[in-house]
Amino acid sequence: METILLLAHTEADGTLAKAAIEALGAAKGVSTALSGSSFVAGFIGSNTQPAANQIASCGAAKFLAVTGDDFAASRYATDAAAAEALCKAAGATIVIAPATSRFNRCLPGVAARLGGRADTHVTAIDTTADKLAVHRWYYRQRMEAVLTRSQRPWFILVDPGSQAAWSGSPGTANAEAVSVDLPESARRTTVTGVRQPAAAVQTIRPDASLLFVTGAGWTKKQADGQSHVPEAEKLILDFLKLTRSSLGSSKSLVDLGGEGQAVLSFLTHLNQIGQTGATPRHPKGLSTCCHGEEPHTVGWRFVNERRAISLDGNCGWARGKADVLYVADAFQVMGRVNELLARSGA
Ligand SMILES: Cc1cc2nc3c(=O)[nH]c(=O)nc-3n(C[C@H](O)[C@H](O)[C@H](O)COP(=O)(O)OP(=O)(O)OC[C@H]3O[C@@H](n4cnc5c(N)ncnc54)[C@H](O)[C@@H]3O)c2cc1C
Repeated sequence: METILLLAHTEADGTLAKAAIEALGAAKGVSTALSGSSFVAGFIGSNTQPAANQIASCGAAKFLAVTGDDFAASRYATDAAAAEALCKAAGATIVIAPATSRFNRCLPGVAARLGGRADTHVTAIDTTADKLAVHRWYYRQRMEAVLTRSQRPWFILVDPGSQAAWSGSPGTANAEAVSVDLPESARRTTVTGVRQPAAAVQTIRPDASLLFVTGAGWTKKQADGQSHVPEAEKLILDFLKLTRSSLGSSKSLVDLGGEGQAVLSFLTHLNQIGQTGATPRHPKGLSTCCHGEEPHTVGWRFVNERRAISLDGNCGWARGKADVLYVADAFQVMGRVNELLARSGA
């Protein structure tokens, strides 16, 4: 009989982020599918009561919490100690947690301490005939493996965006406090602050329903023999502002900056999609001024509906990489699209 523990860390306000609610959806699914299993929820954070209340109606047999200022920020020593204590208190055999950077860093170590195993970046969980298996991609998202394990506890870290989020009403839940004896050495590392780009230049939005991709064509000489980079910047930023899409790029375009050529000022390598870039998950994608070569489109693996705008009717998008290719000038198309979006009050 498995004991399934949903393990989550809280946000600064004590609530659970979407990734944790998705992990809860997965944990609930597993506990429903595995007959005779029990289900427990455990939290780590400086304030955990809001989290317990947020998922009070999820059906957990009990709620456990390691709470305190020592557990506010991501820190290997304290996170690992808290997770270990929660797993022991729950008697967990299967631990399902969101694959956040905080947990990806510490939970494999906790699995080793407890004699278990961990799988990070899990994208799907199968529960056929009372057997549990997880899916994980390898070799830059080209090969998918289905794994099962006999060791316990088995830590399953589910990738954000890959699971359906649990939905249910909040309530009041009393979380049982689990105490952790921290040695002084666990407090050696301190977080002195958080640096992040200003909201105005924050162009990567993992939860956006549309991925908008820019290619090197935006900076190339156009029909009039001139490049139009300032105009391209405005069209792209206006579209992002109107739609709150996430911005992706081809490698050629982000590389241009390093080569001293005119480049869109808000792009960094973090925006790069593809074999040597990111593989984001968005329901839809729109590519502009990009050729759609394999090393780029491999990063679109999890984008369900794909459209592209390119002047080249023979580009990679036309060869089975996109559902719809508009053979057109992206400057004209995006100008008109922005006009229509602005008029409709998007
Ligand atoms: C080992 C390796 C790893 C790589 N990894 C990646 C990766 O992770 N991600 C990645 O993106 N690439 C990667 N590449 C590079 C990849 O092969 C391509 O070189 C790159 O994706 C090309 O970028 P692009 O399509 O933006 O540029 P280009 O090939 O220059 O294409 C520009 C396109 O814009 C079109 N265009 C120009 N003006 C307009 C206009 N006004 N309207 C509409 N269309 C217009 C042109 O017709 C052209 O099709 C990798 C390559 C290698 C060898």
